[in-house]
Amino acid sequence: YQLEQMRRDFVGNVSHEMRTPLTVISGYLETLVDNAEDLPPKWRRAINTMSAQSSRMEALITDLILLSKIETGEQTVHDSLTDVEELLEQICRDAQALSGDKQHQLSVQVSDRRLLRGDESQLRSAFSNLVFNAVKYTPPQGQITVSWFTDRDGAHLSVKDTGIGIDPIHIPRLTERFYRADPSRHKDTGGTGLGLAIVKHVLLNHDGTLDIRSSIGSGSEFICHFPRERLVERIPEKTGSDA
Ligand code: ADP
Repeated sequence: YQLEQMRRDFVGNVSHEMRTPLTVISGYLETLVDNAEDLPPKWRRAINTMSAQSSRMEALITDLILLSKIETGEQTVHDSLTDVEELLEQICRDAQALSGDKQHQLSVQVSDRRLLRGDESQLRSAFSNLVFNAVKYTPPQGQITVSWFTDRDGAHLSVKDTGIGIDPIHIPRLTERFYRADPSRHKDTGGTGLGLAIVKHVLLNHDGTLDIRSSIGSGSEFICHFPRERLVERIPEKTGSDA
């Protein structure tokens, strides 16, 4: 247990300490890229590559810090109430922007308007990782359907895409840190390999579980299950005449 604690602290501390020097390096590289016309041509390619790789390192550090906060419980699961419908609409707007020219067809379906008890910022990280992955691993114009529904077992968030899919042999290992189904297929997606590890830990903190259904070429569906006890009725808004 102590060893595990040391590992978490170490990863948390290293990521934290690396953030400042890295911010300085990428800041200067960005300035150089912005003034590329002043650079000798033989340096331009090198500076562009260095800048892209330092942004990638920044994304890795950000995800490692987030994962370590979620894991160590530093960011406690506040018993706040999350409006899932509003959260999903915001995430899908960002996903549409990420999709850009690829014009994915994104749709959100919400069939239960009760609130979810849980840490909104953790839930935002988990849900956006799933929706952004759907965009990253779905060819242009593919369909992405995000639905939030409830039944006797509890509440469920499904993110379904018509993308490249995943060979079932990889599914049990996908939530491991840095695990990738097939690195050669998607080296240009800019992912950190930490997204699904973040999803898994957020769900652990919310007594939830993750289900992954997929096969090569026929798209994927990621479903987060939450226990029924986490659903809370909305308090009806007061009308003017009640005041
Ligand atoms: P990454 O940053 O590489 O996307 P994740 O932890 O988010 O890391 O996902 C792990 C791996 O799971 C990805 O590298 C990819 O192989 C696979 N994956 C995740 N989501 C999808 C999806 N919607 N469709 C196909 N493959 C996916």
